[in-house]
Amino acid sequence: MSRISMGTLYVVATPIGNLEDLGARAARVLGEVALIAAEDTRHTRQLLRHLGLATPMLSLHDHNEAARVEQLDVRLVEGDDIALVSDAGTPLISDPGFVLVRELRARGRRVVPVPGPCALVAALSAAGLPTDRFLFHGFLPAKPSSRRQRLEALKRHAETLVFYESPHRIRATLEDLQVVLGERRLVLARELTKTFETFLEGTALALLARMEDDPDQARGEFVVMVSGAESNGVDVPGSVEAEALLEALLAEGVGVKQTAAVAARLLGGGKKSWYERAQALKPSR
Ligand code: SAM
Repeated sequence: MSRISMGTLYVVATPIGNLEDLGARAARVLGEVALIAAEDTRHTRQLLRHLGLATPMLSLHDHNEAARVEQLDVRLVEGDDIALVSDAGTPLISDPGFVLVRELRARGRRVVPVPGPCALVAALSAAGLPTDRFLFHGFLPAKPSSRRQRLEALKRHAETLVFYESPHRIRATLEDLQVVLGERRLVLARELTKTFETFLEGTALALLARMEDDPDQARGEFVVMVSGAESNGVDVPGSVEAEALLEALLAEGVGVKQTAAVAARLLGGGKKSWYERAQALKPSR
């Protein structure tokens, strides 16, 4: 009895602007697979044309992803290899593909990454902000009240914050960053790998002023990077919410040392300064 071996889903990163960034392995895989599942087949057709390829394609986007799972899985079971691509960069990173990959992995299928361009990694690699720990947040909500709420929740994180943003909302987002996070160092990476690639640095207010002077600076695609909250623990323990947390833990009979450890874990900052603050707040008997 002949047994067909199962196909593989290759998750292939494609350029974010500069076609030279397509890796040799990515190009080979796109030529060898039986089918390419593409976020927008018209967009990917241009890339294939550039590579001199005519691999068959099928659309896979947010609105049909769940329905495509069965269809693609049948092809894998029949032994066909498939490539998953998005319009730009790495699939699943603020792009479709998560449902497909999760489902196929749950079914024990082979899913193989073919790494390459990704706007957030490219931006961080050249921004000069700390990269040892960062918090990628994709796109902030479009609704102003939800956006501010989300920023409030991120306010105390000591990690570098990374967002994707479109030209339609870049100004509004910078305004909210200024209002909610206050004076922080920002780096704005615009049009990465393209002709008008720019890195701008400064406070949100300074960047807004720059866009006022030169409206071109508000055009294109953006990665917004924001330095994390002061991690020396001096500012963080002083906030009203932090004090409330410390007081609540101490009132429950949690020791000063454990209170400091919980606060440092939840809110960031150094244990030593949390310890000093908790010690000062400890109710006297
Ligand atoms: N999957 C992609 C990746 O790996 O980066 C991201 C896709 S997401 C739908 C598109 C967003 O990524 C843009 O709105 C922008 O924030 C960011 N982005 C993509 N290409 C970019 C570029 N060349 N320069 C700056 N930001 C870019």
